[in-house]
Amino acid sequence: MQFLLTEDQRKLQDTVHDFAQAKIAPVAEQLDKDAKFPTVLFHELSELGLTSIPFEEKWGGMGLGTFETALALEQVARADQSLAVGTMVSISTGLTLARFGSEEQKEKYLPDIVSGKKICSIAGTEPQAGSDTAGLTTSARLDGNIWRMNGEKAWITNSGTDISSFALVLAVTSPVEAPKKSFTLFLVPVGTKGYTVGKSYDKMGWRSSDTHPLHFDDCELSPDHIVGELDKGRLLLHKGYQQARVFLATCSLGLAQGCLDHAVSYAKERKAFGGTLGGLQMIQKMIADIAVKVETARLVVYKAAWMTDKGLASLKDLSVAKYYATEIATECANLALQVHGGWGFMDDCPVSRYLRDNRICTIGDGSSQIQAMIIARDLGLEVSFT
Ligand SMILES: Cc1cc2nc3c(=O)[nH]c(=O)nc-3n(C[C@H](O)[C@H](O)[C@H](O)COP(=O)(O)OP(=O)(O)OC[C@H]3O[C@@H](n4cnc5c(N)ncnc54)[C@H](O)[C@@H]3O)c2cc1C
Repeated sequence: MQFLLTEDQRKLQDTVHDFAQAKIAPVAEQLDKDAKFPTVLFHELSELGLTSIPFEEKWGGMGLGTFETALALEQVARADQSLAVGTMVSISTGLTLARFGSEEQKEKYLPDIVSGKKICSIAGTEPQAGSDTAGLTTSARLDGNIWRMNGEKAWITNSGTDISSFALVLAVTSPVEAPKKSFTLFLVPVGTKGYTVGKSYDKMGWRSSDTHPLHFDDCELSPDHIVGELDKGRLLLHKGYQQARVFLATCSLGLAQGCLDHAVSYAKERKAFGGTLGGLQMIQKMIADIAVKVETARLVVYKAAWMTDKGLASLKDLSVAKYYATEIATECANLALQVHGGWGFMDDCPVSRYLRDNRICTIGDGSSQIQAMIIARDLGLEVSFT
């Protein structure tokens, strides 16, 4: 077992860390207030190479792995989880297209995603169904040689920025009378007739991440917009979500590390009882608890990323990482807020934003309950009632 980063990995981590602390951290509060996706900053991050890390060189990528991508995303999330999430959704959706898309689709869409010139999204959730993807109802029906998509998607990240390129959209393609539904994944480019992006949501956190409902009203798609095989799309959506899972865990890990950074530095500078807060043992206990949670989360997240690159990651490995890191990050933000006292409750104190931002991480991309179910199943426990 090897716990040391290579020199190149360390260099990548340092480069992104320095950029994030110099360019992202100082503006993160303002981005949160503006509640608008920061295209210029995203482009700067892409120029650093962040969006290209795990892609093949033929698409303009660095040809590195999930592990290196996680190392970099962690540093972005340490400064601003919203920006890290927008970035990781585009990377993981791009990877889904790279795995399952046709050569033509990849040639047309991937280079801009890899370079970060454009951004993309994956759309499963609907107003009436999220965790239960079998309950999705957006449909696509063949009319002559054209697929007509109708329905609505909810809370789709990266869908309405000025650089949004396409959404991978899951739709029911089985006939209405079929005894069992089947689904197909479609690549829907921005600007397609019948595809509209609704008004941005007002969110508790991830405010500068871009989130919209999507509407499909007889949206016309030629067959070459199908990603992978007809009627096999639900599995691809799940694979896409799984790809994102380790990255979302990484976003929580980075945020938890950010909580530790802020708690330590505040405890060192805040004066209390003739010394500093950091000299009080109960403050030390809270900070030590954050440190232990961060360290443990890092182990499971790095392991899941490393196993993914080796082709060894099981669903359980991804679930353990996602479940643990996303849950402890909220705990870390809460403890860090406690260390900050009243200042922690203020909107412009970073840890209050961290608490708001991380809250969705235990819900999105397979909630904690869904991850727990996957882990229990792996341990041989099946649902024993209907
Ligand atoms: C800011 C934001 C961004 C998002 N971005 C995207 C995106 O880019 N693409 C996308 O497709 N979706 C996205 N989502 C949607 C997100 O993935 C869903 O909210 C999530 O999957 C949960 O689905 P739901 O909200 O319908 O909750 P439900 O599925 O209705 O779940 C409600 C509650 O029930 C629990 N629950 C559900 N099923 C079970 C079960 N079998 N056993 C025990 N408990 C269960 C859940 O854990 C949850 O606590 C986003 C959401 C938000 C808020």
